[in-house]
Amino acid sequence: MALPTHIDPRKLALQGNLLEGTVNVADLARLEASVSAICGPLQASIQFSLDESRAKIAEGEAKVPVETVCQRCLDPLVLDLQANFAVQVIWSEDHLNRVAANYEPWLVVDKMANLNELLEDEVLLALPLVNYHPAGECTGDTFIKEVEATGDEVASDNPFNVLLQLKK
Ligand SMILES: [Zn+2]
Repeated sequence: MALPTHIDPRKLALQGNLLEGTVNVADLARLEASVSAICGPLQASIQFSLDESRAKIAEGEAKVPVETVCQRCLDPLVLDLQANFAVQVIWSEDHLNRVAANYEPWLVVDKMANLNELLEDEVLLALPLVNYHPAGECTGDTFIKEVEATGDEVASDNPFNVLLQLKK
């Protein structure tokens, strides 16, 4: 079931609603621009609630499969992006200091908020800057092994070892 795009987060929080559903690939333009392809709809579940200080809270999970490029072998790589989030609805940036430490602020200046944008922001934050195939599944592994075989006795993936080598 498709999630509604425009929601009233304060009303949903007062009612303690749970929203579950999907966002179509066509509605994720910013994510699409950041990856090679989006492989399926974004799936999300969002629980709206009031916390003990009656702040309006939305907590949930969003996940979406995307195709990106392995920076080691430059072949395609499918990733399941997953984001867990907890946000507090605020009316204005003046209220940023009211946001408890365990929440991110969700600035909603009108009655209605765009749920797609929130979910897209969250999965974009979960997208690593660089991506690699798991060890053993990357055609670039042969290159790494050759370097290790011909390299020094110290492992090259420890930054302190690199410092030691620089000292030598
Ligand atoms: Zn690879």
